[in-house]
Amino acid sequence: MDTAFIPKDHESSMYALWEQNNAFQPDLKSTKKPFSILLPPPNANASLHAGHAMYVIEDILVRWKRMQGYPTVWIPGTDHAGYETQYVYEKQLSKQGKSRFEFDRQTLYDDVAAFVKQNSGLIEEQLKVLGFSLDWSRKTFMLDEKVIRIVYSTFEKLVKDGLVYRDNYIVNFCPKCGTTFADLEVNHIERKDPLYYIKYGPFTIATVRPETKFRDVALAAHPKDPRYKKWIGKKVEVLGLLGPVSMTVLADEGVDPKFGTGIMKVTPAHDPHDFALGKKHNLPVDSIIDTRGRMDFSWYLNTHNEKNTEVKYLDRAKKYHGKSVKDMRVLMLEDLKQDGILEKIDENYTHSVAVCYKSDHDIEPLVLPNWFIRMKPLAEPAMKAAKEGLVTFVPKRFEKQYYQWLEKFIDWPISRQIVWGIRIPVWYSVKENPDLEVTFLNAKHERVIGKVSELLAQHNTMQEITDGLQQLRASANAKFVVSDKKPGEEYLPETDTFDTWFSSGQWPLTTLDYPNGKDFKTFYPTSVLDTMWDILFFWVARMIMFGLYMTGEVPFKTVYLHSMVTDEKGQKMSKSKGNVINPIEIVNEFGADALRISLVAGSTPGNPIALSKEKVKGYRNFGNKLWNIGRYILLQHEAGTKIIALPKKLDKEHATILKSLSSTVKYITSALEKYRFSDAALRLHGFVWDECANTYLEKTKSNTDGGETFTTLVRVFTTSLKLLHPFMPFVTESIWQEFSKTHLVDEPLLMTAEWPKSV
Ligand SMILES: [Zn+2]
Repeated sequence: MDTAFIPKDHESSMYALWEQNNAFQPDLKSTKKPFSILLPPPNANASLHAGHAMYVIEDILVRWKRMQGYPTVWIPGTDHAGYETQYVYEKQLSKQGKSRFEFDRQTLYDDVAAFVKQNSGLIEEQLKVLGFSLDWSRKTFMLDEKVIRIVYSTFEKLVKDGLVYRDNYIVNFCPKCGTTFADLEVNHIERKDPLYYIKYGPFTIATVRPETKFRDVALAAHPKDPRYKKWIGKKVEVLGLLGPVSMTVLADEGVDPKFGTGIMKVTPAHDPHDFALGKKHNLPVDSIIDTRGRMDFSWYLNTHNEKNTEVKYLDRAKKYHGKSVKDMRVLMLEDLKQDGILEKIDENYTHSVAVCYKSDHDIEPLVLPNWFIRMKPLAEPAMKAAKEGLVTFVPKRFEKQYYQWLEKFIDWPISRQIVWGIRIPVWYSVKENPDLEVTFLNAKHERVIGKVSELLAQHNTMQEITDGLQQLRASANAKFVVSDKKPGEEYLPETDTFDTWFSSGQWPLTTLDYPNGKDFKTFYPTSVLDTMWDILFFWVARMIMFGLYMTGEVPFKTVYLHSMVTDEKGQKMSKSKGNVINPIEIVNEFGADALRISLVAGSTPGNPIALSKEKVKGYRNFGNKLWNIGRYILLQHEAGTKIIALPKKLDKEHATILKSLSSTVKYITSALEKYRFSDAALRLHGFVWDECANTYLEKTKSNTDGGETFTTLVRVFTTSLKLLHPFMPFVTESIWQEFSKTHLVDEPLLMTAEWPKSV
């Protein structure tokens, strides 16, 4: 045995030893109840951060249950991470002077897939470095064929049950690029723009976007604002540029009384904040800007004529129709002045503007058709399951948050206008939907945007559109067919993909191969789901909803919400603060065991855990202490001291330590059952270091009792190794292997040795 424990010299060989013995795979011959955990899937092309290291909680649980003899499995997998991955890929593209708009959808998808494949695998290696006993033979990638098959069948069932519908939803749209962008892709710049103060019935409102006022549907003020209190709930008459309109004044906490005059116009179709406010107050969503960034007054011109409208207003609508937003502002400024409703213009107003990261064009928040899921029928059973205790939360306080979110029943927009992800399995007939708007690369590789019926009339062929297709936009009431394959020649595919939470929300179904997979039958519902509290709603609640919806059973019985890892001062780690701790660097310096137990000891679930090098160093020393005790025992053994059968009546010092060992076993087992990982870690540290090493060992060093002391020490220490193994698997297994060589222990692997029972 080496004189000191150098983690690097042992870690990979111990991991290989476990793998060679198939120790990560469940022993399905056991008749005990299976224990299973699914690893929250990291992004396939990610690298490990401190948050991933917190999955040590899961490794502790599975190592412990495995030693207790339960058929145990911990299943790994990786996520495709939709937007984020596509965004990273596009940054690569732009370095080569290219952009996504130069590729048809399929080519772009294939290229991203190749990029992800090339850049994945690192995270797996890093999870192994931490000692995680994941069953790699069962790993799943979010775009595996079986995943897509199951996600499609869920979608089909949702459609059949009437839980899917199409409706308009506000997105970031660049009229110049002709596409939607993720929030991530939107740049925010500070810019000076005129702030218009416009008379609005009895009020004055301030706006940088006067051109959208034609589609205002309400006014809103803060409920406590004394200036507007008496108006709340009342209708006011507003003279607009196209004649008088009547609007209700709403109360909304979200209105900033300090902005402008403290009262705002609500335009749900052209502002994300107004859109949300509109949803809350059930307001209509009417657009006035089209996808090419032009003013669209057809709604007005279709319903107004010389018989029912003043000529002045009609002429204005005709004049405005089809103009760009920029030109529109110039045109309407004159009319505002002419009507005497422009109060003033603040030319020095500076504000944050969303612009396209590609073209710098202003981002136009537009309302476009999207796919939605009705939440109420899914959320109600999910709430009921928690109320009935079928799924429980640790710590319990998170249960309240879970209900608060589900109770809102806000329908879920599940479509994303990107290629990287699972395409929504829907097709549109061009015959039944002549208005489909398509963007495609024609045979000459030029980007063409237009209505499909017009394009086909202009000698573009279906084949050309299909091959070069980038994006398709169908109206909210378009006729569609749900199918995994193309239903016929005249069909074009939906180009939207599912929100990543739609597929990751089915993780328990897809990893276990619902409905006929052997793993599904064996391990569903899984035992524990452990993740950080911040995705309780996004992910955990959705898995519960989908699990119940598809199988009638919750996907896991316990939800454990672990801590966020912070720097030593308790601050969130961020690149900008420069306080990011790279777990792999820590492992290289102090070993994986030291990092693992540092993340657990001193933590309380759901609360931040501060990680410092000093702390990790302390536990590295603890690992060394274990190694030294092991070495001491081996040296004694080599010198001829033997294990004997202990007499019934033991000396007091032996009896005391064995009694304390027994109560420690009881304490650790009970703490793990209650998810009190920190209590367990601290007790083990105290027992081994203080009671075993400092007290017992020191006192008995000079004993020459023919083996009683030695036998007691070996029993105490090997039992401690078992208890410590889930926390510090490498050093404990390394010592165990040395002991095994000299027959100090019988079981060949500590990892699969039997968990101690208290006597
Ligand atoms: Zn753009």
